[in-house]
Amino acid sequence: MDVMTDELGIRRGHALRAAVEQGLVGEAEPVVGLLDVTGIERSATALHAAFATPGVAVTHTFAVKAASLVPVLGLLGECGLGAEVASPGELALARAAGIPAERTVLDSPAKTVAELREALALGIAVNADNPQELTRIDALVAAAPAGSPVAPPVGLRVNPQVGGGTIGAMSTATATSKFGVALRDPGAEEWVLRAYAERPWLNRLHTHTGSQGVPLDLMAAGVRAAYDLAERINAAAGRQQVDTLDIGGGLPVNFRSDDVTPSFADYARVLRAEIPGLFDGRYGIVTEFGRSLLAKNGTVLARVEYAKSAGGRPIAVTHAGAQVATRTVFVPEAWPIRVLALDGKGREKGGEPVVQDVAGPCCFAGDLVAQGRALPLLDEGDYVALLDTGAYYFSNHFAYNSLPRPAVHAYTAGADGSVTFAPVRTAQSQDELVAESGGGLPALRRG
Ligand SMILES: *Cc1c(COP(=O)(O)O)cnc(C)c1O
Repeated sequence: MDVMTDELGIRRGHALRAAVEQGLVGEAEPVVGLLDVTGIERSATALHAAFATPGVAVTHTFAVKAASLVPVLGLLGECGLGAEVASPGELALARAAGIPAERTVLDSPAKTVAELREALALGIAVNADNPQELTRIDALVAAAPAGSPVAPPVGLRVNPQVGGGTIGAMSTATATSKFGVALRDPGAEEWVLRAYAERPWLNRLHTHTGSQGVPLDLMAAGVRAAYDLAERINAAAGRQQVDTLDIGGGLPVNFRSDDVTPSFADYARVLRAEIPGLFDGRYGIVTEFGRSLLAKNGTVLARVEYAKSAGGRPIAVTHAGAQVATRTVFVPEAWPIRVLALDGKGREKGGEPVVQDVAGPCCFAGDLVAQGRALPLLDEGDYVALLDTGAYYFSNHFAYNSLPRPAVHAYTAGADGSVTFAPVRTAQSQDELVAESGGGLPALRRG
């Protein structure tokens, strides 16, 4: 373990104790999300450092779906990052966080004409997913008033079809992926070359090979395919028509320990070795990392409501289940997470490990965040910490059993162990929950 990851664990330990001590979590609010401000800043710094290259304009955007929380986007914006958005809602969050248009990229596979019009009017970069979308953009470009400002960057997303990783649902570069123009399909590359030749304003190329479970060499192969294609487009155009390559995100996260492996530096090293031309100054680079920036900087902290036993198996019934750890509960083999057993004061528990289940509050039998896990035996009033949950967990709530979205707090830990919290999101109230569920609307009447 290096010093940085060690510090991450130390800050987290202080924050878990302080969250209990300061009453952020307890009987009234039995589950909360915690985010490490220092950790997020360090992740952003590591990303900038890994890709920084003299003479190359690099724009790092954050994939908003990984932590759709305005104060987090604001912090990342302060760290010099932009936003990759994939819906009108995500665009609204990025704008609310003050992310400038020139650092925003719109990537959804299902953009409506209205969304495209808005993005172009705002000056946001758009990556078209398919030929039909490009035709819609053609019409919007043609309809732009004469003398209107230069069109924002527009790119085309290609699927290099280099294959999948260990998690099918996260693999976007399979032969039949729903994303982008399938580059190896018959006639596809010819079509792409023609599409660029016919549209002098088409100046970016986008690919995103996948997320968790995709190895570095496969990610690099996807970027390589996009780079090679850009070179062919530019050769045909006789100019640097594609001036920016958007290489997507997808750096996998290590969910087994606090170590950051692979790191942004590891990935950048592979890219520099495999695709030196990407860094020689002819192309701007856009990245769209999500999970790798936030995962290790977040923790779900939940109270153990009851400790019981069934069929000889101890079971801790906690307040963190499928509503916050949806993927882990439904696809546990692909999304295992580490669980820390904490005592009633938020301190790590000692004691002999006992094989037990850590269950959530949802009313279905599979609502388990850890099954048959050896941990110090959990008891009523203890806490559990679900580690590496800063990305995709508490920002993508699953409203099963009308369980409220928990509060999220950001922490800054001083060297002396003192911890300061700042609110990131308040817990959803009962009134909000009822209103969201049609509570203000008239009751349905019988036929
Ligand atoms: C989800 C997504 C990302 C971010 O993926 P991570 O695995 O969180 O880094 C980036 N780009 C696109 C197009 C995506 O869909």
